[in-house]
Amino acid sequence: MNEVILDELYKNLGKYVTSERMCKKLGISRIAVWNRIKNLQKLGYKIEGKRSVGYMLKEEAKDILIPYEIRRRLNTKIFGSRVEYFRLTSSTMDEAEYLLEKEDDLNGALIIAEEQTSGRGRQKRKWLSPKGLNIYASLIYSPENWDTSMAIPFMFALSIAVREAIVDFGIDEAKIKWPNDVMVGNKKIAGVLVEAKSESGILKYLIGGFGINVNMEEVPEEIKDTATSMFIEASHKIDRATLLANILFYLENLLDIMNKKGKDEIFKLWRGMNNTIGRRVDIISGEDRIGGVAKDIDRDGFLVVETESGPRKVITAESVRFVDGHEE
Ligand code: ATP
Repeated sequence: MNEVILDELYKNLGKYVTSERMCKKLGISRIAVWNRIKNLQKLGYKIEGKRSVGYMLKEEAKDILIPYEIRRRLNTKIFGSRVEYFRLTSSTMDEAEYLLEKEDDLNGALIIAEEQTSGRGRQKRKWLSPKGLNIYASLIYSPENWDTSMAIPFMFALSIAVREAIVDFGIDEAKIKWPNDVMVGNKKIAGVLVEAKSESGILKYLIGGFGINVNMEEVPEEIKDTATSMFIEASHKIDRATLLANILFYLENLLDIMNKKGKDEIFKLWRGMNNTIGRRVDIISGEDRIGGVAKDIDRDGFLVVETESGPRKVITAESVRFVDGHEE
């Protein structure tokens, strides 16, 4: 019902819509319309009401992350065909898994939350997810005939999409750290995580999760030396619905490319926007730490590091730390 009101208000942006018209469209009383308008105002819509005239939406919504606003901005065929919105959840990854247990036909479904209590990174590391400022999202993709090795190129495509959408807001220095983080200098601005569901070696579903630090004016104390936000980098507020719609658009295009031309095209693009190749790194695996220089990614997307004892392939379970603080 709110969507019908918003449609009317947007169609007449900057002009009054009479209360009678709203009542007729919705089949509800004047009081009921007024209550709904009050709720929309609470969400942040700049709606003006005049007693005997009606209601006017004064300007387009800025940074209201509800499914309606995301849909208005979407330019995709599959992604976002369904949007599940949570004010609060443990994690959008949990919600995606839960949906997959209950339902089929979830290709393209987007799950978003304003706040997460147990947002997670790789190996269940915690992703700090304060309320109302950032993006916490998971996307479900159901590929056609991909084997399980494609989960890594999918993760690269998602990191590229997130990076490109961040750059569109003027943060040109955003680069991808192998394998899954978007960094500005040495600070993390976004994290990407992919979980796969497969049957007999064929991928059935991929869940692509991403957390982006968007409108946090300050980062939480625990990560203040290692994290940044789009607000801090761009010095202005960002419309999260636009950012999210752009990510979905980029990802859909990248997956089209991957399906038509293969994963190498994605790796080629990734090479042009990473901050890892050419850097001195330490590979950390449990208690072990091996130094070397990151040379390239191989045909599966694993990092190849030249160490004293020869080239060593790094798989995603291990961590890579930069030894020097600067990019080469
Ligand atoms: P690392 O960040 O230690 O290199 P990683 O790349 O595997 O490891 P992820 O699993 O992607 O990290 O993300 C989890 C880590 O990110 C946490 O351990 C924490 O250090 C950091 N972190 C948690 N919340 C945020 C946030 N909102 N923004 C930036 N970094 C965060």
